[in-house]
Amino acid sequence: MSNATPLSPMAKPRFGRDLLSQVPNELFQNPAVFVQPEPWSLVSRFFDPERCHVHEVTSMEHELVRSVAEPLGDRSAIFGIGGGSAIDMAKYVAAEHNLPLVLLPSILSVDAAFTRAAAVREGSLVRYLKSVVPDHLLIDFGLLKQAPPLLNRAGAADVLSIFTALWDWREASVVEGEPYDPKVAEQSRVLLDRLLSHASQIRDCSDQGLRLLAELFVGEVALCEQVGTSRPEEGSEHYLAYCVERLTGRSFIHGQLVGLCIDVVGRIQGQDVAPIRRFLKEAGLDCSLEAVGVTQDELRKALTMMKEFVAGESHLLPGVFHFRPAIGAKEADRLVAELD
Ligand SMILES: [Zn+2]
Repeated sequence: MSNATPLSPMAKPRFGRDLLSQVPNELFQNPAVFVQPEPWSLVSRFFDPERCHVHEVTSMEHELVRSVAEPLGDRSAIFGIGGGSAIDMAKYVAAEHNLPLVLLPSILSVDAAFTRAAAVREGSLVRYLKSVVPDHLLIDFGLLKQAPPLLNRAGAADVLSIFTALWDWREASVVEGEPYDPKVAEQSRVLLDRLLSHASQIRDCSDQGLRLLAELFVGEVALCEQVGTSRPEEGSEHYLAYCVERLTGRSFIHGQLVGLCIDVVGRIQGQDVAPIRRFLKEAGLDCSLEAVGVTQDELRKALTMMKEFVAGESHLLPGVFHFRPAIGAKEADRLVAELD
């Protein structure tokens, strides 16, 4: 994401309850609304069924997304109400037709509502397309609290990953002379520390906890845009998570899997993971193998194949698995055993 032209300012979230009632009336004229069923049942009263086109998002396959988007150019606005897919679809369609965009995330488990690009799938690949800033980004505590707490708590892992991502970045600057921005790194560390000192609010999914999570996403996305990559928040912990997904062919709650991988990768990097473990425990974000749904064998296998995995994924910025020798069976055993 390197930028020759200056970016438009980021969306500023609005916080509160029943926030749809504060969106200007004209946007409700004949909108297209992308939804997932649970949140839709909670907010459908705001929309006139005669005048709006409601589309339940079940797939983000690129071809399908394109055909869904095509006929919607004359709508008054695009609403995205739900989790990642509903948000991404709304972003794509609004960007395609340059229409006003309203985003109302129903969970904070991913940062889709805070980033510009829309994630679409092409087979097993994820591509980030378009670029759009919502006119209204609504963080509605009443709606978010209807979701299972785990799904909101899981969002914390994408901030917690600063812990391992910064180590990768710093090491890449030492080993390979990659440009490193100590100021951005320091600001990322401040976001991480803010998260670490508010575990109980995250656990309770209180108004303050949800607001904090949203603000940390905003801060993190801004730092990534500043350096033009996701260096401040994504590194080898995500690579290990991708490898586990590839190896097992299963999908997981992203934040739970990433939380587990931060614990493992932090130790491979030689970091003291005690603060991470304490946070996960206090925040009620269970990232044990059992809770995540990964077996000991699967994790061991993934660890021993990481060297090969990152070599085959040439778009990944270098991290600890690039720099050190492959992990042997004995070391993998130890890393998995230390999880208990
Ligand atoms: Zn992530």
